[in-house]
Formats: sequence, structure tokens, C-alpha cells
Amino acid sequence: MRVAVIGAGPAGITAAYQLAKQGVAVEVYEASEHVGGLSRTFELWGQKVDLGPHRFFSQDPRVNELWLEVVGQDYEMVDRLTRIYYRRRFFDYPLRPGNALWNMGFLTATRCLASYFKEKIRPSYRETDTFESWVVGRFGRRLFEMFFKSYSEKLWGIPCHELDADFAAQRIKKFSLGEAVKAALGLSKGKHKTLVDQFAYPVGGTGMVYNRMADKVRGWGGHVHLRAPVQRVVHHERRVHALELKDGRIEPFDHVVSTMPLTLMVKGLGNLPAEVERAVDKLRFRNTIVVYLLVRGSNLFRDQWLYVHSPDLGTGRVTNFRNWVPEMYGDSPDTILALEYWCYDEDAEWRESDEALIERAKRDMQLTGLLGGAPILDGHVVKIRRCYPVYGRGYKQHLTPVEEYLRTFDGLSVIGRYGAFKYNNQDHSILMGLLAAENILDGKSHDLWAVNTDSEYQEAALITKTGLHYPDRPAVAEKREAVGSGV
Ligand SMILES: Cc1cc2nc3c(=O)[nH]c(=O)nc-3n(C[C@H](O)[C@H](O)[C@H](O)COP(=O)(O)OP(=O)(O)OC[C@H]3O[C@@H](n4cnc5c(N)ncnc54)[C@H](O)[C@@H]3O)c2cc1C
Repeated sequence: MRVAVIGAGPAGITAAYQLAKQGVAVEVYEASEHVGGLSRTFELWGQKVDLGPHRFFSQDPRVNELWLEVVGQDYEMVDRLTRIYYRRRFFDYPLRPGNALWNMGFLTATRCLASYFKEKIRPSYRETDTFESWVVGRFGRRLFEMFFKSYSEKLWGIPCHELDADFAAQRIKKFSLGEAVKAALGLSKGKHKTLVDQFAYPVGGTGMVYNRMADKVRGWGGHVHLRAPVQRVVHHERRVHALELKDGRIEPFDHVVSTMPLTLMVKGLGNLPAEVERAVDKLRFRNTIVVYLLVRGSNLFRDQWLYVHSPDLGTGRVTNFRNWVPEMYGDSPDTILALEYWCYDEDAEWRESDEALIERAKRDMQLTGLLGGAPILDGHVVKIRRCYPVYGRGYKQHLTPVEEYLRTFDGLSVIGRYGAFKYNNQDHSILMGLLAAENILDGKSHDLWAVNTDSEYQEAALITKTGLHYPDRPAVAEKREAVGSGV
């Protein structure tokens, strides 16, 4: 059997890895010049950086087992510190009610509590199907406005009442008054670390995992073709039998695993039913611009990344690679920061020059006051198209007919973040790749569309139960020399 995999990101390369391991002839076609997709790592100014923050966490034992099979012992457990930066103050994230109320001062805290109780007694919304109604219903309007509105609107570029609640249900820890009281009394610290407290990180950067998988695929006789964009999936009466590459070559295959953007893949199938054509046109993606800044100094702030909620700053998140694992910065006296900006194709930022974007990032960093006069030595820009599938209100009405149509095809597995229009983390994409391979190898019928649809807040899982821990090794923060107090 010959299997083609489109895309060498976590989803595609995992599928290829699992198939090649079992002796299947696999050909991976990757449009770019590197493996890893959004989870790649690259060298910049003599250090290793990712495309923004990429922590690894999963509570699925299958995903963790595979990840550990590839990474071995070459990873660290990092004590997470990722606060919200809001009007020159730092709030724990995930929000800890005690910390949030303390930080905002008596008056604002009282107003937040009043708005929380008002919402509990007389809810503003009957339906909690939008991001706004979901969050206001659980946190109250004041907290929504402080901690959710501005960040989410920066990220998605649409008002929160037009965003689907799916995004909130998967990503936000629920608020509990009991927890707030315990936190205020200092009683809430559990004995065991959860996926919120610590995450795993490969010492060679996130992309190390996928480069290793690609090497294994090659070692088992498969091929990973780089700079090989696929034009379309070729089928006869919904039986897939080949791929057409951008250079016009047609390659025959028995099965195709696609992780290329769902919209482009579906359009390439041709002769779409009108309903599917209409639906696929409604699915939108949001772009990301990552601006890297090289800053002289090693002690700017302590977080691995900051969520920037201040509405006056254009950036939504700032990663500080200095605070991940020491292997990333070696003996450099400098810190690399990555500022994320989000936009659509038609927005002016997307067409802005690198110089202008670097100036914008410098300005934002100066406004935060976090640099304290440290000089910015250099800048670098990476633009990522179709980075986030937009969960606009009711997006499932458009996704479902596409899903249903694709289910009628033989020899096609559709997986991945933009591949399946799912707001995936690495672990979801790895799981999709793993299950797609099982379907092909063992004739299983895992429903690939069902991955990453539960609304469980999975970060509550205990690290000890996930298998992602070294009982005999300290977390990286304890090993690293004190980085100073920062902020
Ligand atoms: C800023 C940012 C921060 C993130 N933080 C985290 C985090 O902390 N933790 C976490 O787990 N995840 C994080 N993620 C998500 C993670 O990056 C993705 O979930 C993961 O990379 C998705 O893998 P994928 O294989 O589904 O898709 P991708 O990584 O997008 O890979 C798809 C691949 O397909 C290729 N391709 C596209 N079209 C074609 C074509 N026509 N022909 C051939 N190849 C094609 C692309 O070049 C790409 O290499 C983050 C993402 C971003 C953008």
C-alpha cells in the first residue's frame, strides 16, 4: 500500500511516522522548506526560537507515550509562569480569583464581585452560545471586560458576541467561588502539579520532535519531500487515487492523509455540491505576524510569555525565550522576545513592511515599561497565513456539511489544525495523526472529526498521571540560576 501525507506538521508527520514504522510506503509532501509546520524551531541570532510559545501538554496517554518515544529524556519540565499584563499590572493566568481581586484593588474588586453576583442572580443571557455570553455568565461582565474582551478581540478580530462559545469552553478554566475563598485564605495550593503548573519542553526546541520523526520516517524507507506543495487530491467518483503536485506531476496513491488547509483541499476536489461550496466559502482563517526582537539583557521579566490585555497595545502576547530552558539561549547575554499580532489578509498590517512591523513592536515593548531602558539590537518578522481557524458564531453550520461530504470519500483522511478546521494544540494534531494511521493500518474506524471537540478543561490533569515527569529530576526553574526578580 502507498500512502501520501500532505504536510509535515505535527499531524502529518505523526501519521507518516506511525505508518512507516509498520512498513507502509509513505511519501510526505511538505510545501515549505522545513518540517514541523507551526511547531517548528529555527535558529535566530545564535539561539533557538519557536513560532511564539509552544509548550507541550496532554492528558492522553497515547499522545504522551508517542511523544516520549521520540523525545526520550531530552526534555525538561518547566514551571509555568504566564501572567496577564493589564495596564501595568500582572495577573496570574489561568486567573486565580484571589490574586486577581487582590491585584485590582478594593474598589475594582468589589465592583467585579458585585457584577459576578448580579450575573448569578439575574443572568444577562439566556443562551450561552457565544464567547461573550459564556464568559459573562461565569465571571460577570466586569471581569469579562478586563480579562477576556480585549485579548479575544485582538486575537479573532471580531466582537466577542460574534465568537462561538466553543473557544471558551475548551480554553478557559471555570470560576468557582469556593476556589476564590480558598485562594484568598491561602488554602488552594494542591500538593500535586497539574498541566497548568508545569509543561514539557524538548531541549532542542518544539520542532526537535518533528525533525526526529521525519528522520525516522526516512530511516524506515519513507520519503519527506520539502518544497513540494500539493495542488489537489485526485479522485474518481469519490475514490481518492492520486495527488497532483504544484509542478503538475500526478503521483498515484492508495490513500491520502491531508493536513493542508481544509478550504483549499475541498475546493481542489472539484464539482462540489452547491451546499458544500457555499459552506466552505464561509470558513475563515486568521493570520499571525510574529515579530522577534533581540534585546540586550537577560532579566527583563520572569514569564515564559505574557498575555497582553491592555487595549492600548497592539500585540496580544509576548514570549520571552530566555525563560524556557537554558539550552535555548546558551551563553548569550541577550534575550529574544516574540510579539504576536493577528490580522486578516485584507488588513493593512498584513501588507506592512518588516521595518514598519519591527518599529510597531519596539513601540509596544517600550510602552509596557518592561524593558527598563535595555536597548533593542535587532528585529525579525515571520508572517503566518491561515494560523487560526476562526470559530465565528455558528461556524459549525458551515463545517458540518463539509465534514459530511468528506465522509463520503474513500481513501482520504482529513486531519490537523487548518487541515480539519480545529483549534488544535500539538497534542490534538498528534492524536489525529496517530488515529488516522490506525484507521489505515488496522482498518479501525476512529472518527477523526471527533478529536478536539470535548469541552473538558484538560489542563486540570495531574502531571504524575500524564507520565510527563521525571520523579528523579528537578524542574528546570530549580536548576537554572536565579534569573533575578524581574517584575
Ligand atoms: C503562536 C502559536 C502558539 C502556539 N502555542 C502552542 C502551545 O503552547 N502548545 C501547543 O501544543 N500548541 C501550540 N500551538 C499550536 C500548534 O502549533 C499546532 O497545533 C500544530 O503545529 C498543528 O499541527 P498540524 O500538523 O495540524 O498543522 P501545521 O503545524 O499547520 O502543519 C501543516 C503543514 O502543512 C503544510 N502544507 C500546507 N499546505 C500544503 C500543501 N498544499 N502541500 C503540502 N504541504 C502543505 C504546511 O507548510 C505545514 O508544514 C501554537 C500555535 C501558534 C501559531
